[in-house]
Amino acid sequence: AALLLAAGSLTACSNGSSNSSGASTANASSAKIGLLLPDSVTARYESADKPYFEAKGKSLCPDCTVLYSNADGDAAKQQQQAESMLTQGVSVLVLDPFDGEAAASIVSEAKAKNVPVISYDRLINSPDISFYISFDNEKVGELQGQALVDKLKKDGVPAGSGILMVNGSPTDNNATLFKKGAHSIIDPSGYKVLAEFDTPGWDPAKAQDWVAGQITQFGSQITGLYAANDGTAGGAIASLKAANVSPLPPVTGQDAELAGIQRILAGDQYMTVYKALKPEAEQAATLAVSLAKGETVKATSTTKTAGGAEIPSFLLVPAAVTVDKIQSTVVADGFYTVAQICTAD
Ligand code: BGC
Repeated sequence: AALLLAAGSLTACSNGSSNSSGASTANASSAKIGLLLPDSVTARYESADKPYFEAKGKSLCPDCTVLYSNADGDAAKQQQQAESMLTQGVSVLVLDPFDGEAAASIVSEAKAKNVPVISYDRLINSPDISFYISFDNEKVGELQGQALVDKLKKDGVPAGSGILMVNGSPTDNNATLFKKGAHSIIDPSGYKVLAEFDTPGWDPAKAQDWVAGQITQFGSQITGLYAANDGTAGGAIASLKAANVSPLPPVTGQDAELAGIQRILAGDQYMTVYKALKPEAEQAATLAVSLAKGETVKATSTTKTAGGAEIPSFLLVPAAVTVDKIQSTVVADGFYTVAQICTAD
C-alpha cells in the first residue's frame, strides 16, 4: 500500500504542478524570448548557438517563442533588431553584442520596459545587464599563446624570431581579453611580435588582406602566427598559401569550427580552442526561461564591466585542441562525429 501510495502521489504531484502553475504563469508559458547574435562571418552562431538555444528553450517552455536576429556585423542594425523585439513584447533579451559599448543603449531601452538583458558570450559595458554567460576569455588567449610558444620552442625556432598577431574585432570585449591573455604568454617568451592587427568585425577577408601585406613586408621573418579565431586563421592561411610560404608557420585559432578542425588534421593550422557551445547556449536558454517566468537565479561568479559594475556570471572553461586532442575533446563531447570531420570533398 505504501508503494502504491508513493507511486500514486508521485503521479499526482507531477500532474498537479503543471496544472496549478499553468494558471499563475499563463503569460510566462507563452513568453517571447529574443536572441540577438553579432555576425554571420563566423560559423558558430547559426550552426551551434542558435539551434542549441532554440532546442533548449523549446524543451523547457514548449509554448515560448524564440525571436532570432543576426546583426551581420552592424551595431546600428542590431539596435533596430532589438527595438523591433521590444516592440513585439519580448520578456527577455539574450544579447551577444556586435559592439559592447554601443549595445549599452539597447540595455537602457530594455530596462525602461522592464525587460532583463542577458549579455551572451560578449560583455556589454552596462551596469544594467542582469547576467553574463561566457567562457574564461583571458584563458582562451593564454591557451593560444602558450600553444604557439611551446610549438616554436619544440621546433627549435630561435628566440627573437617573429610572430604576427591577428586579433579580433576592436568592438568586442572578448577580443581585448583574448589579446591580453595571448600577450601575457608571448611577450615574456623571447619571441618578437612583428606586427599586430585588430580585425574589423572579425572578418576573415580583412585578416587575409592584412596578412598578405605582412608577408610582403616580413617574408621569412614570420615564424609563427597568432590568429584569434578560426575564421581569421582561415584568412591568414589562405594568404600564406597564396604566397607559397612553405612550410607554413604554426597558426592558432578558436571555436573548433569544422573547417578549423579539418585544417588541423591536414596540417595547415596548428591549434584551435574548443569552447563547449552547447552548455553555453543551454545555460542562456535556461536562464532566459527562468527570467521570463520571474524566477530568481543565482549565478556562480561575478564579472566587472569596463565601467566597474559587478555582473552575476556563469563562466565556462575553454580547452586547447591540437591534432592529438581532437578525439578527446570535440569528438568525445559529441560536438562533431568522425564522419562529419572526415568527409572528403
Ligand atoms: C567569440 C568567438 C568568435 C568571435 C567572432 C567572439 O566574441 O567569443 O567565439 O569567434 O567573437 O564572432
